[in-house]
Amino acid sequence: MELSDVRRHHLSVVLEHLVRNGARSRAAIAQDTGLTKATVSSLVADLLDRDLVEELDTPSAGRIGRPATDVAAAGHRVGALGLQIDVDEVAACVVDLTGEIRVVHRQVAGNRDVPASKVIARLRQVTARALTDAAALGIHCIGGTLALPGLVDPRSGTLFVAPNLHWFDADLNGLAGKLKLPAGFPIAVDNEANLAALAELRHGAGQHLSSFVHVSAGGGVGAGIVIDGRVLRGSHGFAGELGHVVVDPTGKPCACGARGCLETLLGSDAATPPTADDAVADALAAALRTVVHLVDPEAVVLGGTLAGLGDSFATRVAARLHDITLGARWHPCVVHRSLLGADAALVGAATAALDTLISDPTTVPLRASAQPA
Ligand SMILES: [Zn+2]
Repeated sequence: MELSDVRRHHLSVVLEHLVRNGARSRAAIAQDTGLTKATVSSLVADLLDRDLVEELDTPSAGRIGRPATDVAAAGHRVGALGLQIDVDEVAACVVDLTGEIRVVHRQVAGNRDVPASKVIARLRQVTARALTDAAALGIHCIGGTLALPGLVDPRSGTLFVAPNLHWFDADLNGLAGKLKLPAGFPIAVDNEANLAALAELRHGAGQHLSSFVHVSAGGGVGAGIVIDGRVLRGSHGFAGELGHVVVDPTGKPCACGARGCLETLLGSDAATPPTADDAVADALAAALRTVVHLVDPEAVVLGGTLAGLGDSFATRVAARLHDITLGARWHPCVVHRSLLGADAALVGAATAALDTLISDPTTVPLRASAQPA
């Protein structure tokens, strides 16, 4: 590790500590993180020069001696853009560094079978509105992520397949330009189910869980698997396709090539939309038992429309899961309803961009007045 990498890592440690745990003095940060007071002072000075932290006027009370000025993440002034393309809408939001959703714009749009370029033009409109609103609130957006309902290669910016949009190999390179974002604005693409799981981990039912499966049904059925506090992506980012676990080998043909996938029962192409009836709960439990046996999560979080099916649906899924998993007698898998509702993937998209910033605060340039001469 080069010296600059060590410093970058320490900047990340201090910023993440302030974001997750709230304001405190430099001395307290040193105590909490194990860094020296001199190092913390220098790191805080750097973060102040990037406008990522701020000094609070009111120092912590109750201390003996000279009161220390607390520093806090500049939560309300820094934010990220979350974007989403789904089968029936485009959406843009701004989430600030404290995790608060500050701006949301949604536009109903029938995107199925519409070329990607035309849908991106629709997305451009809501994006522009979100950025205008953020600027009016004094929020500086440091980057963004676009959530897509399909298999995405985040590195090349390619959407390989979005079965419910009927998109194949859509090239999303140069997305920032197509969205008319400011020059150099970092914008990533990712799978919506992975992003929904990330939102649940940071802001929802997953905050107190280290390993869980977030499953949602909307256009399709998506799942994001969180193991030890990280979203399990697999070697290509394709992990978590719970919708393609077979629950009825003699069932309807599915876009993936198999028959009777969960998605043929719960997705938008299913004969009827998901309902709170026992057959739907049993089919979901039958697919989830495979994940439970493979990765041993603490809990399942029901998101999207599944969260809206009520507590009795969640109870039925949990009971069925209990009956058909080997370890349930000793460690039953708990079933929660998502606290984030329909916004999970959109909020997760902004959260991913904020995580990128927190992991390397030097991606935000020094304020002009703090630039070395
Ligand atoms: Zn399938």
